[in-house]
Amino acid sequence: MAEPSRDPPSALSADFMSFSPGDTASRWLACADLQQEVYCHLAEYVPRILCQGGGMAEHREEQREEQREELALQLLLLAPLEWFLLGGEPAAGLALLQQGGGAAALCGHVFKVGEPTYSCRECAADPTCVLCMQCFLASAHRHHRYRMTTSGGGGFCDCGDAEAWKTGPSCQNHTPADQNRETEEDPVSLLPPAVEERSCSIFSIILQYAVDLLTWEQEDQLPAGLEPPQRSDSYYCMLFNDEVHTYEQVIYTLQKAVNCSQKEAVSFATTVDRDGRKSVRFGDHQFCEQAKAVIVRSTSRQSKPLRVQVMHSALVAHQCFALKALGWLGQIIQYSDGLRRILCQVGLRPGPEGENSSLVDRLMLNDSKMWKGARNVYHQLLMNSLLMDRKFKKLFAIRFAKNYERLQSDFIRDDHDRQFSITDLSVQIFTVPSLARMLMVEENLMMTIIRTFVDQLRHRDAQGRFQFDRYTAQQAFKFGRVQSLIGDLKYVLISPPPQWSQQLRTKFLDGFETFLDLLRCMQGMDPVVRQVGQHIEMEPEWEAAFTLQMKLTHIITMMQEWCSTDEHVLIEAYKKCLSALSQCQGGLPDGEQPISLSLAGHTVDTFRYQVSQEKVSIHLPVCRLLAGLHVLLSKTEVASRLPEQLPLGELSPHLLIELPLRCLVLCAQVHAGMWRRNGFSLINQIYYYHNVKCRVEMFDKDLAMLQVGASMMDPNHFLMIVLSRFELFHTFSAADLRRRYREANKDLAQQNTLIEEMLHLIIMVVGERYVPGVGQVELLDEVRREILHQLCIRPMAHSELVKALPENGNKETGLERVIDSVASFRKPGVTGRGLYELRPEWSKRFDLYFHHYSRADQSKAEEAQRNLRRQNGEDTALPPPRPPPLCPLFGSLVNLLQCDALLALEGAVLQWAVEPSGGGWTESMLQRVLHLVAMALLEEQQQLESSGADEDVSFTFSTRITRPGEAPSTSGSVLALLESLQNAPHLEVHKDMITWILKMVGNIKTTRERTSGSSVSVSHGRRPEESVRDKDKAERKRKAEMARLRREKVMAQMSEMQKHFINENKELFQQSMEDLEAAATATEHSPPSLEPTCVAHICVGPMRVGGAERRQLVTCILCQEEQEVRGHGRAMVLAAFIQRSTVLSKNRSRGIPDPERLDPLFMHPDLSVGVHTASCGHIMHATCWQRYFEAVQQKEQRRQQRLRGHTSYDVENGEFLCPLCECLSNTVIPLLPHACSPDRSVEHPCLETWLKRTNQQAAALGFTHRKQSHGAAQQVEPAVPDRFRVGFDPQNSFSSGVGEMINTFSMSAYKVGLKVNPNEQDPRVPVLSWSTCAYTLQSTERLLMDEKKPLFGSLPCRQDDCLSSLTRFSSACWTAAPIRTVQNHFIRLLSVLVPIPDSQLEDAPCILDVDMFHLLVYSVLSYSSLHSLDQSGRRSVDSAHLHLLHLVTVAHLVQVLLTFTTGELSMDQDGEESEEEQLTCQLYGRLRDHLGRCLPDISCGWRLWRCVRASVLPFLRTAALFFHYMNSASPPADLLGTGPGQWEALCSYLSLPSNLLLLYQNQRTLLEPLIHRWCCHPGVGQVLHGGGVLVRFPRESNRLIDLPEDYSILINQASSFTCPRSGGDKSRAPTLCLVCGCMLCSQSYCCQTEVEGEDVGACTAHTFTCGAGIGLFLRVRESQVLFVAGKTKGCFYPPPYLDDYGETDPGLKRGNPLHLCSERYQKIERLWRQHGIAEVIGHAQEANQTLVAIDWQHL
Ligand SMILES: [Zn+2]
Ligand SMILES: [Zn+2]
Ligand SMILES: [Zn+2]
Ligand SMILES: [Zn+2]
Ligand SMILES: [Zn+2]
Ligand SMILES: [Zn+2]
Ligand SMILES: [Zn+2]
Repeated sequence: MAEPSRDPPSALSADFMSFSPGDTASRWLACADLQQEVYCHLAEYVPRILCQGGGMAEHREEQREEQREELALQLLLLAPLEWFLLGGEPAAGLALLQQGGGAAALCGHVFKVGEPTYSCRECAADPTCVLCMQCFLASAHRHHRYRMTTSGGGGFCDCGDAEAWKTGPSCQNHTPADQNRETEEDPVSLLPPAVEERSCSIFSIILQYAVDLLTWEQEDQLPAGLEPPQRSDSYYCMLFNDEVHTYEQVIYTLQKAVNCSQKEAVSFATTVDRDGRKSVRFGDHQFCEQAKAVIVRSTSRQSKPLRVQVMHSALVAHQCFALKALGWLGQIIQYSDGLRRILCQVGLRPGPEGENSSLVDRLMLNDSKMWKGARNVYHQLLMNSLLMDRKFKKLFAIRFAKNYERLQSDFIRDDHDRQFSITDLSVQIFTVPSLARMLMVEENLMMTIIRTFVDQLRHRDAQGRFQFDRYTAQQAFKFGRVQSLIGDLKYVLISPPPQWSQQLRTKFLDGFETFLDLLRCMQGMDPVVRQVGQHIEMEPEWEAAFTLQMKLTHIITMMQEWCSTDEHVLIEAYKKCLSALSQCQGGLPDGEQPISLSLAGHTVDTFRYQVSQEKVSIHLPVCRLLAGLHVLLSKTEVASRLPEQLPLGELSPHLLIELPLRCLVLCAQVHAGMWRRNGFSLINQIYYYHNVKCRVEMFDKDLAMLQVGASMMDPNHFLMIVLSRFELFHTFSAADLRRRYREANKDLAQQNTLIEEMLHLIIMVVGERYVPGVGQVELLDEVRREILHQLCIRPMAHSELVKALPENGNKETGLERVIDSVASFRKPGVTGRGLYELRPEWSKRFDLYFHHYSRADQSKAEEAQRNLRRQNGEDTALPPPRPPPLCPLFGSLVNLLQCDALLALEGAVLQWAVEPSGGGWTESMLQRVLHLVAMALLEEQQQLESSGADEDVSFTFSTRITRPGEAPSTSGSVLALLESLQNAPHLEVHKDMITWILKMVGNIKTTRERTSGSSVSVSHGRRPEESVRDKDKAERKRKAEMARLRREKVMAQMSEMQKHFINENKELFQQSMEDLEAAATATEHSPPSLEPTCVAHICVGPMRVGGAERRQLVTCILCQEEQEVRGHGRAMVLAAFIQRSTVLSKNRSRGIPDPERLDPLFMHPDLSVGVHTASCGHIMHATCWQRYFEAVQQKEQRRQQRLRGHTSYDVENGEFLCPLCECLSNTVIPLLPHACSPDRSVEHPCLETWLKRTNQQAAALGFTHRKQSHGAAQQVEPAVPDRFRVGFDPQNSFSSGVGEMINTFSMSAYKVGLKVNPNEQDPRVPVLSWSTCAYTLQSTERLLMDEKKPLFGSLPCRQDDCLSSLTRFSSACWTAAPIRTVQNHFIRLLSVLVPIPDSQLEDAPCILDVDMFHLLVYSVLSYSSLHSLDQSGRRSVDSAHLHLLHLVTVAHLVQVLLTFTTGELSMDQDGEESEEEQLTCQLYGRLRDHLGRCLPDISCGWRLWRCVRASVLPFLRTAALFFHYMNSASPPADLLGTGPGQWEALCSYLSLPSNLLLLYQNQRTLLEPLIHRWCCHPGVGQVLHGGGVLVRFPRESNRLIDLPEDYSILINQASSFTCPRSGGDKSRAPTLCLVCGCMLCSQSYCCQTEVEGEDVGACTAHTFTCGAGIGLFLRVRESQVLFVAGKTKGCFYPPPYLDDYGETDPGLKRGNPLHLCSERYQKIERLWRQHGIAEVIGHAQEANQTLVAIDWQHL
C-alpha cells in the first residue's frame, strides 16, 4: 500500500505550541470580511488535522491517532470559534451565559438505543409521550400505572412539555422555579448585545459551511474559499451503506477489493453499517479508482452495486469537520436559551433563492442524499435547537409541513430505515396537539398526508380500486415504506380537539373527504368468486389489502371519535359518507333480475344475487364507516334532536344491508365448506375479518349495519332478504320443500350449517347491544362483557386478556378499569403465571352466542359453564342473559323476535326436531331456536316489568306462540311443539332449556293476568309517567349501590378479622406447618435402616459399624430382571452425567490450565474447577445399557447425513438420554457391594506405630520403583517391613464385567475432567475418579448446609443412590489402574503431611495450597494400594483411615489458623476461656513461633476458636458423608435433624474428640515436628506475603449475583454499557453473566473470539472461563434468561422478573413494570448450585426441537 505524503506529527505539534486561539479570535474581530477570514483558517488547518491516512493502523495506534486529532481539533479549530463568540476566555464566558439564561424548562434528553423510557398510562397525552429515567423517578407518574419500554434510539424526553401530559408535566428537576417566566419572553434579550451580534455572524458562517459541505456533490472540488493552499494527490475510496447488501456480501467483497484481512473487513463493514460510510482505501487517485472498480464489478451481479466514491482527502476532511462543527453548535446552545434562539433564527432565515432556501430547508431537502452519520448529527442538532424552542418549533413545523410531500417521496425512494430519515421527526411535531391542529388549519396537513399516501399507491383496477394482486417485490417494498404515512396521520388525530373552530371544522371535513376517497379505493378490493370444480391454481395476494386495513383501523376509529365531539362535523361527515357510499353502490342493483319473495303472509321485492356464484369482496370500509357514524348519531342523540338536518329519508335500508350481508353470508358459506377450492387465502381473510386486530372496523361494523337496516325495515322483509342471501329461502318457504331437498341433495350438512349460521346471525342482530349507541351502555360495559366472556372459557392471565381485547390508539384496552369488578386474581407460584378467575356472580351474564366467540371458544365456554352449573347443583340450561335496553333509534329491532317470518322459521325447525328420524336438522339448530325463543320471552318479561301496571305491552310473543303456525307450517303452535319436545328422549341435553322456557311462559302468563286485572287506572300522559319511572329506577339503583357498599364493608371486616386471628395464633400455625413438613420428609426418605440405639454410631476407624451384611437387590429398568449387586456378579450400572463445574470456585480468574500438563493430584483450596457427577438414579444391567447405547449410536449415524447433530445430546461425546426418564447422561456408574465389616479381632496400631510402619513401606516402595525405572540403585536398600511384599500383585476382586464398567466410568471422569482424549495409561486416571467423588460430596454438603437441611436423610433418593455408588466406586477404582501408579500417588499425598525418608519428593505443595478434604479422600482411597501388599494378616485398614483423618484434621486446623484474619472486630468475649479456646490459643502461639510476624498477634482464644469451629465444620460434615457412603455406616439420630448437638454428634460419628484441639494436644511430641515442617515450607511464607492465591476460611458459598428489585435499573445499566471492542459503541445485545456479574456484548460480530478453533460469541467464550462450559445469563433487552452448555447447547429460561400480574415479559413487549421475584431467582440459583443447568437444557431441547437448531455459540 502506498504511503502518501503527510505532515509528520512534529509539524503539527509545532503549530500546537505556537497557536493561540485568543489571538486568532482577535484577528477575526478586527477583520472586514469575517467569512473569508474564517474560511481561510479552515482551509489551512482542516485538511492537516482531520482524516490523515487510511485508518488501517493497529488498534492502539489508531486510538492514539484519534486522540491527537481530537486535541488538535479542539485547540486549532473550535477554540478560536469559542473565543470569538464570547469575546474572551470561553470557560468563564460560558458560565456567565449559563447563569444569565436560567435553566431550561424542558428536559429534552435524547435517548440512546436501548435506554429505558417511561410513559404514564394515566396521564400521557399519547403513548409517544415519554420520560427519561431521571425525570421519571422525580415525577409524580412513578406512582401511577406506567409503561416501560426500551428506546430504539432518537426521540427525546418530554418532561416539561405541558401538552404531553394531562397532569404532572414536569419532574422536580424541570419544574420552572419562577412560574411567571413561563410567559413568552424573548430569551435573546437576556444576552449581552455584543455576544448576540457575534453569535449571529459566527453561527451563520459555520452553519452555512456545514450545510454547503454536507450537501456537496462533487468529488474532487471544494466550495469557494476552501481550496487548500497546496493540493495533494491523496484520495479516499469511500464505501457507502445500503440496505440491499448483507454484511457477509460486503465483507467478502472488501477482502477481494482492497485485499484486507477478514478482521479488517468486518471492522469496515461494521462502520459502514453504523456511520453510513467508511473509507476503505487511501492513496492516489488511480489507486482508489482500482478498488472502486473491483467493488462495483463484484457487487453488480446480483443487484444494484454498492455505492463507492473516490473523494479528495481535503473534501473528506472538511466534511468530517462539518459534522464536528454541528456537534459543537449543539453543545454551545445548551448554555443559553438565547444562543439557541439565535441559531434557530439563523437556520430558518430565508436564503437568497427565496422559497425553501433557508439552511434548514436545504438540509431537509437533501436528507435522502446524505449518509447515515451526517443525518444523525444534523437531526440531533435540530432536536437540540428548533424542537426545544417554543417559538421556533412552530416555525419549523410549518417548514416541515410545507415540504412534507417532497420529504416523503424522497424517503420512499431512499432505502434507509425510517429512523435515519428526517421524516421520522414527524413524531416530535405532529403529536403536539396544538401544533397538529395549527398545521391542519394553516397547512391543510390532514389532506396533505392522505393525498401523499394515495398518490403513492398508483395500481388501480378499472373501477379505481387498489389492486395489490400483481405486486412486484419492489412495489411491496415501497408499500411497506408508504405505511409510515398512516403513522403520521395517526399522530395528528390521536387526541380529538377540545374545541372546534370554524376553520378546523372546514379543514377536518376536507381531510375527511379525502379520506373517503382513499376508502373508496378500498371498497370492494380483492373480490373473490367461488371456485367450483377445480381448486384455484395460485393463491391470490391478500395480505397487502389486509395490512392496509389493519393500519387504517385506528385511523377510522379516530375519525369517528373526532366526529362524535361536534354535532356539525358529525352531520356533515355522515352526509359525505352517505354520498360516497351511494357513488360506490350506484350500479349495485343494475342488471340484476328483480324478484318478489313471500313468506308467512308477507311479500318483499328484491333482486336476484347469489354469493356462491358472483363476485364478493370482504373490503367494505365505506359501508362500515357509515355504520359507525350512524351509531354515533344515536349515541350523541343528534338523530333525535336534529332529525331535519339528516338525510335519513334518503337511506334505502335494502341497499345499506346488501354488501355487509353478502360478506357475512360469505363467512357462513366458507364455514359450511362451500369455498374449499378457493384455498387458504380466503380462510386467512375470514380469520382476520373476525380477529381482534380488525374486527372493530370489519365484522363488528357489518353487524351494526345489519342492525341499522333491520331497525328501519319491516322485520319480516329483513328476514326474507337474509334468507334469500343465505340461499335458504326455498328451504323455508314451503314446508315440504325441505323434505324434497333433503332427498335430492347430498350436501345436507352444508345446508344445515348455513341454517345454523343464519340463526346465529339473527341472534346477534337482536341481541348484541353492548355498543354505546346501539344499546344503552357505557364503553366500559362493553369491555367488561368481553372480559367476562373470555373468563367464561377458563381463567386467564393478564396478557391473554389483553390480547383478546382491541386496543385503542393509545394502546389501552380499558381492561384494568373493570377487571377487578368481574374477576379475582390468583397469584402464581414459582412457575406459571398469575390468573384471573371470573367471580361466580358474573357467570349469570354468560351469553352462549356472544358474537366474538369462535366456534371453538363457544364449545369450550359451553362445556365449562355447564360443568360449573352441574357442580353447583343447578340445572344446565344456559338461557340468554338479560340484555340492556336498546337506544331509541334501534328500538324496533326487538320486533324481529316476534315477527311472523321468524315464528315460521322457529316452527319449522321445531317441527323437524319432533321427527328425529329425518336427520334434516341438528342440535345446534335447535339450540339456536330455543335461544331465540328465550330471548323473546325475556324481552316480554322485561317490558312487562318496566311498564308497571299502566300500559299495554306491545310485545306479545307469549300469546303469538300459542297460535298455530301460519302459512307454510301446517303443524301446531310453537308452544305446542315445545311441549311435545320436552319429553322427547333424544333431546336430553336441551331438556333443561325447554323446561326453562315453559316456566318462563307460565310466569309471563301469570304476570299478564295479574296486571290486566288491576290495570284500570290508565290516565296519565306518557311523558311525566316516564320521568316518574326514571326516578324510581334511580332510587332502586341507589339502594342497590348502598347494599353493595355495605356488603363490601362487611367483607373487608371479615378478612381483617381473619388476618388478626392468624397473627394471634402465628406460632400455632407455624408449628403445625413444621410438623406437617417434618412428617412429609420423614416418610419420603426413611433413613437407611436405623440400628439399635445402644450401638454407638461410628463411620470410620476400627470401631465403625455397618457394612456388608445387607444384600442389595436392584431391578434393571430395561429388562425388568432383578439382580443382586455383587463384585463377581453381573455388572449393574447407574446412568450418570459428569460435567466440569466452577460452582464452588473462589477464584474465577485462574486461567484454564493446559490439560496435557495439569497435575490434578492436589486440589487447590480455591476449588476453581471441579468435576461433578449426578444421576437420575435409574439402574440397568451393564449389558442392557451397552445394547441400548449402541442402538442410539446407530440411529444417530443413520440420520447424520441430513440432520447432523440435531439432537439434544451429543452421541459422539458419549451422551445419551436415560431410557426411562430421558435425563441427559454421558456415562454410567457401576454398582459395587458394601464394604466389609471391620475386623475387630486384630490389634490396631497407634498413630506413632502406624506412621512409622507406613513410612517404611513408602520408602521401600519408592526405592523399588526408582530401581525399576532407573535401573541402578544409588542408595542402600531401605529396610522392608515384616511381611510386606513389594512385588505382590493383589488379586482382583471383581468380575470382568464389573471391571469393565469401573474402567468406563474412570475414563469418563478423566475425559470430561481434563478435556482430553481417553488414555488408559495416563497415571491421572484414578485421580479424576477420586476428584469427582470429593467434589460432588463437597457441593452436596454446601447445598444441605445453605438450605438448612439435616446432613443425613434429606437428600432425594436419586442423589443418595448416586453418592453412595459414586463413593463405593471410587474406593474400588484403584484396582483398574496399575498398582504402582496408585502407590506413587499415595506417597506423594502423604508427603504433604509427613516427611518420607529417602524419597525424592521435593515438589510437595505447602498446606496452604491443598484442599484438605480432597487430600483426605485421595489418601484414604489410594491407601488400599499400599495396604494390599501387607501380607501380615492384620486387617488394619480401618485404623489407617482413622489415622489419616486425624492427621488431615490437624493439618486443616493449622491451615485455618494460618489464614486467620482479624476481619471485623466484634466484641471480645468476657469471662473464663473454655478449654478449646485456651488450646487454640496455644496452638496459634506455636504457629507464631514458627512464622513470626507473618501472623497477626491475637490473644483472644474465643475469636480464634469461633473461626476454627466454623471453618472445620464443613470439612467434618463432608468427611462424615464420605465415610458414611464408603463404609455404609448408618448415621446417628442427631444428624438426621438440625437440632442442637450437631457438633458433638458429628465428632463422635467420625470417632473424633469433640474438643478437636485434643488431637494436637494428645500427640504433641509426634505432631510438633510435623507442624514445624508445614510452617517452614517456603510456600507458606510466600502465600502469606501475597505471592499466591490465599483462600481464607470458612469459605463462603457462592451465590448468583444480586439483582436489582426494579428491572429498569438493569436496562439503564445495559444502555450505558458499550461494546468493549468497538470503541464506545453501544452494544446491541448486552448480556449479564449471573455468576460473576460481567456484562457482555453478545450476539454480535464485534465481540466474537476464537475458542478451540471456532469463532464464538461473547457469551459462549465467557462460559469457558467463568463456568467451565456452563453459563447463566440475563439478556437484558429481551428480559430472558439464557442457559448455555458448551458450544452447541442452550435454552431460554423464564426470567426472575414479573409484572404485577404475575407474568414475565420476554422481549419486553408489554412494558409493564417488572420486579424481581426472589423465589424464582432462588430457583435458578438452586438449579445452578445443584448442577442442573445441563439437564434443564436437555429437557428443553427434547421438548422443543427448534431450540436445537439455534446457533448458540454465536450468542
Ligand atoms: Zn428527562
Ligand atoms: Zn424532567
Ligand atoms: Zn401519571
Ligand atoms: Zn437388564
Ligand atoms: Zn433416568
Ligand atoms: Zn461470568
Ligand atoms: Zn461488541
